[in-house]
Amino acid sequence: SSAVAVEDLTKAYGDTVALRDVSLSVAPGEFVSVVGHSGCGKSTLLRVLAGLEDDFRGTATVDGTDVRTEGGHRVGMVFQEPRLLPWKTVRENVAVGLPRDVDPDSEAARERVDALLDRVGLSGFEDARPSELSGGMAQRVSLARGLAYDPTVMLLDEPFSALDALTKYEQQDFLLDLWRDSDLTVVLVTHDVEEAAYLSDRVVVLGGQPGTVETTVDIGEGRP
Ligand code: ADP
Ligand code: ADP
Repeated sequence: SSAVAVEDLTKAYGDTVALRDVSLSVAPGEFVSVVGHSGCGKSTLLRVLAGLEDDFRGTATVDGTDVRTEGGHRVGMVFQEPRLLPWKTVRENVAVGLPRDVDPDSEAARERVDALLDRVGLSGFEDARPSELSGGMAQRVSLARGLAYDPTVMLLDEPFSALDALTKYEQQDFLLDLWRDSDLTVVLVTHDVEEAAYLSDRVVVLGGQPGTVETTVDIGEGRP
């Protein structure tokens, strides 16, 4: 079965139709990019998958569970801006992403968070504040926060757009390595077609008539 399945999804904000009759299926472990012009509904699609929208038509499931089921599906999300809480340490920021049934003050939680920080290359920065980090490091903290929920599906919304070119390339390769070493399904939204082609197995183009999937291009080599 699909890790992500969207069928005839239509989402409007008042008179603005953000997505119209979009259908999309992502296999477990696949890395899919969604590209398209600004305003074509890319962020809206991710918001629906993340369970942040309840008012839409059609169906959207993650791991076979309706995204509107409270606590029923495991997705992590990374935004263009890392959105870290400035008064919290790096460790505390990652702990924000822990599932609700995990006590963030427990030893187990601390070990889990520190292991995640190690995984994103930030060992030694546990007690640092976000203001002490570079843009790429801050974005990896937000990645660790998303992973803290132990997601099967990772949703990334333009995660590299705010980074300088060199940092962007480093972070893209970092994400690719992380995905290859995991069972994660990744859905990446980007306006950068080159980035999509470089990173993903498959590129989905959202556009043309508002919010319809026009084209799917298979390109990637997937996990080695
Ligand atoms: P993209 O991510 O591709 O740039 P979005 O999903 O952000 O596109 O937006 C799709 C359309 O929905 C745009 O026309 C946008 O202005 C509109 N839209 C998105 N969010 C809202 C909102 N909260 N309220 C009203 N309109 C919105
Ligand atoms: P959205 O704006 O898409 O609705 P949320 O407001 O739900 O996203 O925030 C998503 C994550 O970002 C949460 O973990 C939240 O704690 C964090 N966050 C949101 N706004 C800020 C902020 N101004 N500063 C730091 N962290 C923030």
